[in-house]
Amino acid sequence: SGARVRRAKGRRPPQFLDLDADVKFADVAGLGDIRKELEEIVDFFTFGEKYRRRGSKIPAGILLCGEPGTGKTLLAKAVAGEAGVNFFSISASQFVEIYVGVGASRVRALYNEARDNAPAVVFIDELDAVGRQRGLIGGSGGQERDSTLNQLLTCLDGFEGRGEVITIAATNRPDILDTALVRPGRFDRKIYIPKPGTKGRADILKVHSRNKPMAEEVDYEAVAEMTDGMVGAQLANILDVAALSVLRDRRSEITTDDLLEAAQLEEGGHPDPRPRSEHLLRKLALNEASMATMAANCPDLKQIQLVTIVPRMGEEKGAVRFRSDHTKFELQSVSRQGMLDYITVQLAPRAADELWNGAHQMSTIWADTVDQARSAARDFVFAGLSDRGDLYGLFDCWYDYDRVKAVDSEALKIVNSCYERALEFLGRNRTLVDKMVEQLVKDRFIRQAEFEELVSMYGQLDKPLPSP
Ligand code: ADP
Repeated sequence: SGARVRRAKGRRPPQFLDLDADVKFADVAGLGDIRKELEEIVDFFTFGEKYRRRGSKIPAGILLCGEPGTGKTLLAKAVAGEAGVNFFSISASQFVEIYVGVGASRVRALYNEARDNAPAVVFIDELDAVGRQRGLIGGSGGQERDSTLNQLLTCLDGFEGRGEVITIAATNRPDILDTALVRPGRFDRKIYIPKPGTKGRADILKVHSRNKPMAEEVDYEAVAEMTDGMVGAQLANILDVAALSVLRDRRSEITTDDLLEAAQLEEGGHPDPRPRSEHLLRKLALNEASMATMAANCPDLKQIQLVTIVPRMGEEKGAVRFRSDHTKFELQSVSRQGMLDYITVQLAPRAADELWNGAHQMSTIWADTVDQARSAARDFVFAGLSDRGDLYGLFDCWYDYDRVKAVDSEALKIVNSCYERALEFLGRNRTLVDKMVEQLVKDRFIRQAEFEELVSMYGQLDKPLPSP
């Protein structure tokens, strides 16, 4: 299958043609409903005549909108691959040249090639680089960009409704595109490519493990859970990194642990290799374990996915990772109780230090989380959620001394009452915290399932953990 490039004798070889574009929809995972829309575009090539006879409009351009790495380029290639047509591509940032006219002539050359080798998909990455609303930038660079944009508009109009050359463009900023570009007959079809959800991530991981030496029982779902918020390009990278580390260790199979390890590298960068004393490890472990334990008692906070004392480069400590669902549109609105819970969790390390080490042996390992608690408490007061609802207002009126004093004393009241709550709760859950510290010192991290098991065995919660 696949398209063929017609090459007249003596002509230059095409410079925009992508020959290794033999991608199919099966190579793109986690598409969901988007697949139908893309299949329709394939149909425009295959059954263009039918559409035209029925008088339906075939779009000249399709805009794929989404963050970098979500698979827009891959999808455009898959459309060409499925339709068996040629794929020509360019990144619009390459259009933006210093010399006037260069951008425009490249656009012309691109479309000439595509027309000579039609049917074809023309793919323009980073469309916003030339397609920005005119008038937003001035100077000669702006003029040059305008001539490139005008050329692109002309080319798009030349193919409108004919279905021989369909332009697919990618952008992360559909909102700043020039209105002339998104007019009917140009890029009048917008398709949003969201970040993959948990199932989508598992599917993408599976696609990329197809040609790799995977162990029999790899738990893709567990890895998908741990890679919340990541896009396809990052997931593909996780498999590559895992494969490399297996190769380096002269092992034969990629396991779930290899993938989880690679996922952590992808997310947080490389762990800090400096050796740490057992004493320090215990302090760090108490820090993270106390936060995680406190959070387990706060139903408004998200599920805990991982507790770790592996610090990343440039950071001091480990982390408690909460689950957040990037696939849902979440308003950043937190309930009153949620805010108090957050403050309490941030104070847990200090409370634990006091409980475990005594007031005279305390360190300042918790200084940053106490800062977080303090500023959250002030936000709480500014939101009018404290007993002094009249302190509502966005600004810190430094010139109004009485008001500043009132805000501070309200915030302090909140911090103190949250701190009492942390002391009481951690005191009641010493065994749980100790067990977590032991495991952290031994293994460096605790995963969600292990965490939940520890909590159900040793925890004295006010309410049981919600089932996942
Ligand atoms: P974009 O164009 O949106 O920046 P790309 O298409 O260049 O993203 O994605 C880069 C790589 O990431 C792809 O070549 C592929 O290996 C991987 N990838 C991204 N999204 C997916 C997906 N949905 N399914 C499979 N692989 C994907």
